[in-house]
This record gives sequence, structure tokens and C-alpha cells, in this order.
Amino acid sequence: MDSGGGIQIPSRLPLLLTHEGVLLPGSTVRFSVDSPRNMHLVSQRLLKGTSLKSTIIGVIPNTRDPEHDTDDLPTLHKIGTAGIAVQVVGSNWPKPHYTLLITGLCRFSVSGLLKERPFVLAEVQQLDKLEQYTTPATEGVPAEEGELGELSHNFYQAAVQLLGMLDMSVPVVAKFRRLLDSLPREALPDVLASMIRTSNKEKLQVLDAVTLEERFKKALPMLTRQIEGLKLIKKTRKIGPDNEKRVLSVRKGGVFPGRQFNLDEDDEDEDGDDTAALERKVHGAKMSEAALRVCLKELKRLKKMPQSMPEYALTRNYLDLMVELPWSKSTKDCLDIRAARTLLDNDHYAMDKLKRRVLEYLAVRQLKTSLKGPILCFVGPPGVGKTSVGRSIARTLGREFHRIALGGVCDQSDIRGHRRTYVGSMPGRIINGLKTVAVNNPVFLLDEVDKLGKSLQGDPAAALLEVLDPEQNHSFTDHYLNVAFDLSQVLFIATANTTATIPPALLDRMEVLQVPGYTQEEKVEIAHRHLIPNQLEQHGLTPQQLHIPQDTTQHIISSYTREAGVRSLERKFGAICRAVAVKVAEGHRVTKTEASSPEDPTQQEDKAVPPELPIVIDHVALKDILGPPLFEMEVSERLTLPGVAVGLAWTPLGGEILFVEASRMEGEGQLTLTGQLGDVMKESAHLAISWLRANAKTYQLTNMVGGPDPLEATDIHLHFPAGAVTKDGPSAGVTIVTCLASLFSGRLVRSDVAMTGEITLRGLVLPVGGIKDKVLAAHRAGVKRVILPKRNEKDLEELPANVRADLDFVTAANLDQVLNAAFNGGFPGTASTHTHPQLSSKL
Ligand code: ADP
Repeated sequence: MDSGGGIQIPSRLPLLLTHEGVLLPGSTVRFSVDSPRNMHLVSQRLLKGTSLKSTIIGVIPNTRDPEHDTDDLPTLHKIGTAGIAVQVVGSNWPKPHYTLLITGLCRFSVSGLLKERPFVLAEVQQLDKLEQYTTPATEGVPAEEGELGELSHNFYQAAVQLLGMLDMSVPVVAKFRRLLDSLPREALPDVLASMIRTSNKEKLQVLDAVTLEERFKKALPMLTRQIEGLKLIKKTRKIGPDNEKRVLSVRKGGVFPGRQFNLDEDDEDEDGDDTAALERKVHGAKMSEAALRVCLKELKRLKKMPQSMPEYALTRNYLDLMVELPWSKSTKDCLDIRAARTLLDNDHYAMDKLKRRVLEYLAVRQLKTSLKGPILCFVGPPGVGKTSVGRSIARTLGREFHRIALGGVCDQSDIRGHRRTYVGSMPGRIINGLKTVAVNNPVFLLDEVDKLGKSLQGDPAAALLEVLDPEQNHSFTDHYLNVAFDLSQVLFIATANTTATIPPALLDRMEVLQVPGYTQEEKVEIAHRHLIPNQLEQHGLTPQQLHIPQDTTQHIISSYTREAGVRSLERKFGAICRAVAVKVAEGHRVTKTEASSPEDPTQQEDKAVPPELPIVIDHVALKDILGPPLFEMEVSERLTLPGVAVGLAWTPLGGEILFVEASRMEGEGQLTLTGQLGDVMKESAHLAISWLRANAKTYQLTNMVGGPDPLEATDIHLHFPAGAVTKDGPSAGVTIVTCLASLFSGRLVRSDVAMTGEITLRGLVLPVGGIKDKVLAAHRAGVKRVILPKRNEKDLEELPANVRADLDFVTAANLDQVLNAAFNGGFPGTASTHTHPQLSSKL
């Protein structure tokens, strides 16, 4: 073997085991590697080394099944090619792997293995001479004698012949030509075998041919095969253009004129067929008798009508819809309560009460197949999973699911369709939905029934009532259809944010199931069980690529969202996934550059990073992706002056904390209220002032100059921040009193307390609604003590145990108890008869 002379490769080489391609000397091949040994070779050798020598590796074809090369080292092919890794790119996409660009140098044989882990290192023997080919081919060819000379000559001729048959404008062909001119002939078999179309097996044969003669002999047939193949293609092409011409002429002469001549007759014919087909469809649609009668009548009219009449299209559309409707097509219910329970549990965390009720509902339906039950209406803030429970119900029943958004619908024809006399008339959303799902027993989710509007075009709620009423809906008549359609098989579910704005008649038909907001802990669970896995999947990421620790989730919940549900939390995860997807697609480069020193010599442009580690989202990464926190725990900061108190409010979007601010200035005893308050709230403010004035002496409240009437020569301004949001309701009463008591006494309200409750003129505290949502909001905002009306004590039982444990509840029957609980050390007044008046219960 002729390793004498020329350049020597190192005698110990790390080996890359490949199964997807064969590298031959003189060619450059791209390899994608992902097996542990190969990955280690790249990260520990190629990316670490600094010298040119360290980029030389041995590439050994591994013909064994790639699945098995992880544990035991497979028997290696005896010959490989040493090559220089000219480019290394790492990526996590779609799984961690590297792509290497390797240029083959020369053959070697393995004489012994030095180690197998973490990558294979072998003692090798160089088999080919390795020279820098500087000499032009013609001069470089030694006039070889005998067989080798002849082989080499024939091979060269064949290559020239092949070149002659190729299109020189193609870049790879131009390269072929350059190589042919510049390479010495002994390099040609290797180079050409990898350029022309050959199988891996054939390349392997060339690789195994250690002597030149053998190599020429192996490669020549491949070359001639290519030439023959090309000849054949050329031959068929010659016939090609003629054929094409004939095809073209046929098309031009035959079809177009004919079409012009026969246009009318043709269409007439087609039309006849068409209506016949329609008629067949009408009969096949299994519609109700009444509908069939109408259809046949319309069909008769259609046949008589000239096509150009506008009414033709109208009638045609109508009939098309009629035959498309699922008159008697339905899916078969497959309800298994146990399976339903598992499915509901798997899809949704928490919401136990709701899930229980849904299962009961389904069980009853299973026992009693007639469907005249109440309609379930899920009421709760956005993003608490109402729609998604609806979807699960459809899945458990094996039914189609369709969502009908009712928000802003204020025209009854949206529900019931337009009469066909209108131009552009169409059926309503119910019929349209049925057409979409193509079965007559889907689950329809009537979304946002609380946002139905009203207008001159009639009340959509009345139309909806007809749809939902089991006594009427078996003959629901859409204005467009003008015949009854049986809706009794449809399962309706409604959703709303609040029951307050659902029209009473509609509400009466429904069974309301409250879906309250989630606690911080529940949200963390939901995030890690459902939201994050879902988002990862939607963005094509895996947990190996992106990891969001619980701690980060908590931070997102408290600092980037303020909601009862989890919708914007889900969006935040979406944003994180998008940002990470970009990094993964870029081969993870950024994190590495951030992590390692810029002077690191291995940190070259082309050399990307080992992609084994997932991207972990910590607080720093979070700030990079989502920006600075949107919400601060602001409660304590804002209570640093007298005249501020924190109340709890209920909104259709869940509970919220509500600040009340008061200030006073010289004046004539006027009260100014700002912050878009409703009448009830304004009255609460007046009540509060009156009660405080009446009790000023007891509590030693004073005006600005210390006089006994807080309002004397003083103007009061009460403001409710978030000034653009309209607020109303009586439940801010206790907060206003506390706020003013703080202002008049100059004392600070405890910074960790929030309260709710209606007041009376005599200082009693009356119960209010929405306790659970309010308490959850207080908990979200980091409040420690919550003051509630005494008569709301029973509502506390609905709260999750951990929230109850975290908070200190004070239930108050009168304002004296409220004030005592709201100020540090109580609020001394001569009225207090007891030293520790607050009923502090740590539930
Ligand atoms: P709604 O209809 O109440 O406004 P959605 O049903 O659209 O809310 O829910 C918003 C997202 O939050 C959905 O992706 C849903 O799967 C998810 N989600 C809400 N609650 C839960 C829960 N308890 N468990 C799992 N995922 C939930």
C-alpha cells in the first residue's frame, strides 16, 4: 500500500460511524449525526480542538441497523475515509443533532481500537497517497503502462463523453468539468463515483477497492451506465416535442371552436342533467315530508325558469342547501360514564363541582334518552375553561361540536335567518351550523348568551328561546328554509360571564353552573399539566428543548397576568414558545454566546453549540421575552398615606381589588366623587360620610384644623382609581368608611387588609355577593386579611383550603368591628365595648 510520500494523516483517529452515506476521498458530504458516540465526538473533539489536525476524523460506514449502534459497538467496516470537518452546525430541531460537512482525504484501515467511549478512537493505517494536487492533470499523468494505463485512459474517455452529454450551464456540471481538467487521473474514480448517481452499496465497493486498478474497474461500469441512461433519455426526448405538438394541435383545432358552436345546446343538456341530479339528491336527502313537498315544488319552478333569471340562482341555492342539510343524518352516541369521567379529568384540572354536575347530567341523559332536560349554562370569567368543557362533553358523547358566538348579535335573523325575498338572504346561525357539522345531533355551544343585544330588527333572545324550548324546537322554522327542521336532537350548552345580563326568560330555561376563577396554585397546576404541554406541542417543541420551572410559572402568574382564568397565561406561554422556537431553529447559538467568554477560541462562527440541554426559562429569560413585569404587588406601596383603603369588587371578569382614595382641602363641606361611579356607589359614599360625621366624636375624628365636624370648612374628594372603568354596587361601603376614617384620623390603614360589605346609615354591615371571586382576587394581590360581612361567613366554605389557610378572615356585623380590624391596634372609639372586638377566624 502506497502511503509513502505525500501528506500523512494522524495515526490515531476518532471515528465517526455513519449509516446514511459513504464518504470517498476528494468529495465533500454532509452528514447528520445524532447517536451518542457521534455527538460526543463532535462536542468533545471537533468543537474543543483548536488545531487543523483536530478537525481530521475518520469516517467509517456502518452498514448495521442504526437503531443498534447506541450500546455495543457494531463491527466496523474495515476501511474508512479520513476527512476534514469543514463545518459543524448544531441544532435542537427536531431533536438534538449536528450536521457536519466533511471533505474526504484518503482511505485508511483500522488496525486497532483504542477506546470505545465516549467516542471511538482507533489506531489507523493510511492506505492512499495524499498529495496536494497542484500539477495540472495532463502533466501529472505518468505514462502508466499496461493494464492500469489502459483502464485509466478508458475511464477518462468515458468521463469526457459523459461531460459532453451534460448541460454546461448547470453549476455542478461546470464543477465536474473543472475537476476533470485539474485532477490527476488516479483521483477520478473516487471523485466521479461520488458525483454521479450511485447507490451507497456501489460507493462502498469503490471505497473497498484499495488498489487503483480495482477502483477503475469498479467505477467504470457506473460511469458507462450513466452514459447509457442519458442516451436513452435523449432518445425519448426527441419524440417528445413532436408529441407535444400533436397534443397542442388537437386541443386548438378541436375543442375551442366546438365549444363556441354548441354552447347553447350543450348547456341546455348539462342543465337538464343537472336538475335531474338535483332531483335525485332531493329524493335522497331523507328530508321531512313537508320539506320534500316544498323542494319538489321549487324544483318544478326551477325547471321552467330560464337560467338568466336572478331567481334561478336563488332557488338553486335554496335547493342546494336543502339537500345538504342533515335531515336524518346523525352520529351514534357512545356514552360511557366511566370513560367520560376520565376524559373530563384528563382534560381539566380542578373544577370538581362542575365536572360532577356535568357527569350527572350525562348519566341522566343516558338513562332517559328523551332530551327534555334543562340546558346547562356555564357562567364564569373568561378563560376558566367553559368552552373547553363544552368541547369535552361533545367528545365524551362522540358528537360533533360547533360553537355559535352570540356576542353582539342583536338581530333575530342572525338566529332565524332572512326571508328568501331579500337579496342576499341566508339561513341563520343554527341552520348554518347544522350544515357545517352535517349531522343533526351535534353539541352546540351558545357562547356568550349574556352579550346578546337588542335592536329594531327584533329580539334575538326570543328567537333563541324558541331554539332552546324542547316543546317547540322539534319544529324550528328558519325564515330562509321556511319549513320546520327538527332541533330536538341537538345538545345545547350555553356560556356567559354573568347571569345579570342574560334575558330572564332565557335564564329560566337554563341550569346555571358557576365556574369561578382559579387560585394561584390551581393555575400553576393547570399550567404544568395542560397549558405548557399544549403550547409546546402547538409550537413543535419538546420538553427536552424548553423547560419552564414552577417558580417561573408563579412569577408569570403574579407579575404578567391579572385574571381569574388562564387565558392570558396561556398566551404568555405561547409567546415564550415562539421565542424559544426561534432560538432552537437558530441552533441554540445565542444562549451559548451569552454563556461563554467571547475570547473563547473555539467559539467560531460555524461551530455551534452542543444542543443537549433544554432552554430553561428563568426570571432573566422571562424578562427578555415578555418584557418587564406588567403588574407589581402594589397594595402595600399604595397604603403609605392616610386616606387610602383597599376594597374588593366583583366584575364579570372575576374578582378585583379596588383602591379608594380620599383627600381633603379647605372648602365648604362639599363631596366630590370621581372614577365613573354608578348611583348606588355614590349613595354609599354619602352614607359613609353621614355615618362618620354622626360618630365623629366617638372616634375622635376631626376636620383639617382639628374641629369636631370632619366636614366643617373642608371639601372632600373621593376617587376610585382605574378611572375609566365604570363601577357600581353597594359593596364598597365599608371601604369608603375605612378610607375616610383614615383621612379624618390621620392614621394609616393596615397595608395587608382588603374588605367588602354594604353599609347602612346606622352602621350595620350587610352581606354582599361574589365572595369567592373577591377573596381569590385578594389572595392574588397578596392581601393577608380580608374583612367580610358576618352574614357572608357561610360563603367561605367554598374556598380552596390553601386560600383559607393563607388568609385571615374577619367577619364584621357593624362598622365598629370593620374599623377595629382595619387599623393596627384597633380603632379606638368610646363606642367599643370590648377590647378585642374583631371576630378573627382563621378558617
Ligand atoms: P372560556 O370559554 O371560559 O373563556 P376556554 O375554554 O377558552 O375559556 O379556556 C381557555 C384555555 O384555558 C383553554 O386552552 C383551556 O383548555 C384552558 N383551561 C381552562 N381551564 C382549565 C382547566 N381547569 N384545566 C385545563 N385547562 C384549562
